[in-house]
Amino acid sequence: MYQESHTRKKQEPGLATQTTAERAATPTATGPTRVVIIGGGFGGVDAAKAFKGHDVQVTLIDKRNYNLFVPLLYQVASSQLSAEHIAEPLRHLFCHQKNVTIIFDEAVDIDEENKQVVLAANAPVSYDYLIIAAGARDSYFGNDQWAEYAWGLKSLEDAHRIQQRMLLNYELAEVTDDPEERKRLLTYVLVGGGPTGVEMAGAIAELSRFTLKKEYHNIDTGDTRIVLLEGLDRIFPAFDPKLSAAAQDALEKLGVEVRTKAMVTSVDATGVEINKEERIEAGLIIWAAGIQGASINQGVADVAELDRGKRIMVTPELNIPGHPEIFVVGDTAHIPGPEGRPLPGVAQVAQQGGRAAARNILLGIKGEAYQPFVYKDYGSMATIGRNRAVADVGGMKLTGYPAWAVWAFIHILRLVNFRNKVYVFWKWMWDYVGYNRSGRIITDYKHDAED
Ligand SMILES: Cc1cc2nc3c(=O)[nH]c(=O)nc-3n(C[C@H](O)[C@H](O)[C@H](O)COP(=O)(O)OP(=O)(O)OC[C@H]3O[C@@H](n4cnc5c(N)ncnc54)[C@H](O)[C@@H]3O)c2cc1C
Repeated sequence: MYQESHTRKKQEPGLATQTTAERAATPTATGPTRVVIIGGGFGGVDAAKAFKGHDVQVTLIDKRNYNLFVPLLYQVASSQLSAEHIAEPLRHLFCHQKNVTIIFDEAVDIDEENKQVVLAANAPVSYDYLIIAAGARDSYFGNDQWAEYAWGLKSLEDAHRIQQRMLLNYELAEVTDDPEERKRLLTYVLVGGGPTGVEMAGAIAELSRFTLKKEYHNIDTGDTRIVLLEGLDRIFPAFDPKLSAAAQDALEKLGVEVRTKAMVTSVDATGVEINKEERIEAGLIIWAAGIQGASINQGVADVAELDRGKRIMVTPELNIPGHPEIFVVGDTAHIPGPEGRPLPGVAQVAQQGGRAAARNILLGIKGEAYQPFVYKDYGSMATIGRNRAVADVGGMKLTGYPAWAVWAFIHILRLVNFRNKVYVFWKWMWDYVGYNRSGRIITDYKHDAED
């Protein structure tokens, strides 16, 4: 817990000093070992599934009642898919796994002394082992006031807000007499040249250049200005430079302005400032530039070390140094990787980490030594609209249609439920034929509002 009075010392990560006996946590209650998991995302769900058939009582706590397929959020934000196609109720996911209990609540603190997770609305939950898999949130690098105007894309609420703003901007641009205001409304700035920024920029380009083209009679939606800003010297810095160049080329063919070495130095309600020297007036600013660990990480900040991104530093076995009963996986963990760099914040790391933490807990219950987590990188990919993608899979560097086909196949395969797989496949094929986007409904808008 993070009361000021707590004085226990942190231990250095990567400890070689932990013995098997220290690692094995002693269950405090009779009956099955109690494992509590905070977060039903990629890491938490895979961890919970790994306990299937074991004499372990799992409590999965999530502030949402669903598991979200985050990689397709941008398709909800750009009106391609609806929320229910990329989200699955956690209760449905675990309806056949009787040793999993789900609590729909927010974890607000962790009391390591009494081994309890403190919840916002319900009584604390006791654990013998805890897995923190609470994901990440946006980081504005010390400029939290920008969050009001530069919107992140981490949740369905974020996606809905972005989608509504885009649709509204076209409606307002259609009726305004002010050319400068029309230009501003039709300018979208995306901050961050990683997969989220690139995929979103490509999706907005297709929406404006093709789908909406014939629907407005006073404006040409094809004039929408889409600016992608990246502080480094190339987009997709985590990819091979050839794939970065291919992605930039594909974006530019869609009319996206790609600006590298462009640092955002200020954000306000009507635009952004770049490198302290240039201003772009914008009707929508999307923030995809940085992430930090989940807020629940503060709950263990007195016993664990947090890195600069507020992620919890863990041992190679994925537990907090000195706390063999607390594991941390996924985006909220700083997991040591090759050359001292942390493993990337991607779904594969979270899923494999969740399963590895569960394996170690099962070893701990038997009194055996934990095994270090070995991450297997199966490759990375991102799409830039139809027929355009980049993929680095099994040593092969793909671009264009082959990369897009691999991307589409893998994403459909990874959606959690059969109904969603069939729907998304059908919807993508339908959109492929005609650039259709059926989910373009503005809701909850009051015509006397300031907008
Ligand atoms: C827009 C976008 C696109 C992406 N695209 C890709 C991609 O194409 N490929 C890829 O591999 N990765 C992609 N990622 C990254 C990937 O989504 C993450 O690495 C992955 O979701 C991390 O899994 P996780 O389990 O750590 O966290 P999450 O999947 O985010 O799950 C965290 C869960 O914890 C819950 N939670 C948080 N705090 C609390 C609390 N205090 N109490 C209770 N519950 C809590 C949340 O509600 C959530 O359900 C993308 C990310 C984003 C934002």
